[in-house]
Amino acid sequence: MAGKIKVLDDHLINKIAAGEVVDRPSSVVKELVENSLDAGSRKIEVEIRGGGIDYIRVTDDGWGVAEEEMALAFARHATSKLKTEEDLWCIRTMGFRGEALPSIGAVSKVIMHSNNGEGGASITVEGGKIVSIKAAAAPPGTTVVVQNLFYNTPARLKFLKSKTTEANWVFRVTSQLALAHPEVMFSLVNEGRLVFKTPGRGDLKETAGAVLGHSWTKRLLELHKEAGEMRIHGLIGDPSFTYRGNRGQFYFVNRRVVQNRILARALQDGYQGFLVGQERPVGMIFVDVPSEWIDVNVHPQKTEVRFKDEQKIYSLVRLAVREKLSSLNDKGTPYFEILSLEENREAYDAFSSPSKKDANNDDKWSWLDEFDFKKTEPPEELFSGEDKEKEESNFHLLGQWASSYIICEIENRLEIIDQHALHERIIFDELQTAPGNLKGEELLFPLSVQLPPELMEAALENMDLLSKLGYRVEIMGERSLAIRQGPAVAKNREIEVLLAVLEDIEKKREREGVETSALTVVACKSAVKAGERLTLEEMNWMLKKWFMVPRSWRCPHGRPVSVSLTMKEIEKWLKR
Ligand code: ADP
Ligand code: MG
Repeated sequence: MAGKIKVLDDHLINKIAAGEVVDRPSSVVKELVENSLDAGSRKIEVEIRGGGIDYIRVTDDGWGVAEEEMALAFARHATSKLKTEEDLWCIRTMGFRGEALPSIGAVSKVIMHSNNGEGGASITVEGGKIVSIKAAAAPPGTTVVVQNLFYNTPARLKFLKSKTTEANWVFRVTSQLALAHPEVMFSLVNEGRLVFKTPGRGDLKETAGAVLGHSWTKRLLELHKEAGEMRIHGLIGDPSFTYRGNRGQFYFVNRRVVQNRILARALQDGYQGFLVGQERPVGMIFVDVPSEWIDVNVHPQKTEVRFKDEQKIYSLVRLAVREKLSSLNDKGTPYFEILSLEENREAYDAFSSPSKKDANNDDKWSWLDEFDFKKTEPPEELFSGEDKEKEESNFHLLGQWASSYIICEIENRLEIIDQHALHERIIFDELQTAPGNLKGEELLFPLSVQLPPELMEAALENMDLLSKLGYRVEIMGERSLAIRQGPAVAKNREIEVLLAVLEDIEKKREREGVETSALTVVACKSAVKAGERLTLEEMNWMLKKWFMVPRSWRCPHGRPVSVSLTMKEIEKWLKR
């Protein structure tokens, strides 16, 4: 049985490890760009073809690699960045494992040209083997070209999505890195076309504009907050500027692009009361903390970060967001009061440890058990069938509460109606029954919008649907549209509604249900929001409409429109 245990040879180790470090073209781009950043570059160009599967090029103007070190750069666990074990715990540079180049070299054909100021050289590596190293003229800096990614690992190749999807991932990763480094001039070229180019002047807003589209910058609010050694800054969208999903969200810890559920939760919770349903905020959140507070060494791709004190980070981010949003309200009626740190702790505990939350709820909110929302939903027969006309005269409007709920009396019941959900329902029903196309309204001044590539594509492919919705748009360039006409119901919200519809189309992919879904989006975005003051006439109009639409106690997303309380229930609470 001798000779069964073998030390794996380097080729095989690299091929196995490659799967951990690089799983798709975007992770190759990430590793290469991080190397460029570590080399002190001020200008970084990224170019891809075929979704990055066929071709990736990253060119920088950093300090380069010497000819005699080129082979070493492709050797496993060779790094110029980590010298002692202690360094692992306070990592400042991006790369530190010395894994990227050997991993990439193992699963593709890589050519690196570099000039460190003492003459240029180039190295070619294919399937983990060095094919050649030679002196070759090159401009100062480094260019790495990666071709035929995963050509020798068919299993990996099969796992990739379409070239468009892979290109979108590259767009995402390059955007993140560009936002993390506004002082560096970034450009991304896809299939020979410039996708974005940042000015590299150190201004985050300017950079965000270049990456996301300039028409959005004026809807980004600046965030600043400090507490002890913690510093938070960044940009968040005003509440009318939202996304579905988390595409508009970027998190950075000590300038490192990260994914972190604590930060995501803090941002989302910061918007509590401002957003409805599926809406997700836009935010670029930078957290700077002493490097001993975090552990980044949890994943080979280094995107996950762990905070030693999650509670502190959560509270500060959430507070920063809420303070910013509350300062926005120009109507003089606060949307909410800023929570004390004590309350912040509760909110934090509520999601971080479910058992604790349940324990809390038991003693504090026990009366909620008796309050069964399903039971208090209006009985079906009240709002459907022939009775509806008769019911119309039976409501009595009492007023609006918290600028968000219509309070009225219906048949001896106290009705608390979600104004947004109700208006959304009314608009949706009108849109659905409108024969043919939706009514469009010519704009006095055409609006121009810049779109990220995937939304631009969605627009180009769905011109028919857009015109059915009442839009008339014109293509102005690679990434911008002019809106000349918008749906009448979306008056003054034309851009927002268009973006939401395109987001929705893009997310759905398959054709089925696209039209209904688009109508839902138009209704949602056109409806009054929570926090808007309504006049008595507006509320009366909505209530009258309410009695005319069938199945009206749910909004198009399926949320209930209202809760109602009976005298009996109220008396029970008051122990009468
Ligand atoms: P790591 O970044 O973890 O050190 P890599 O495999 O990504 O490992 O890179 C290996 C080494 O190659 C780096 O430590 C660095 O010395 C050198 N290197 C790679 N890319 C560049 C670049 N663009 N400019 C200068 N040096 C580079
Ligand atoms: Mg690296």
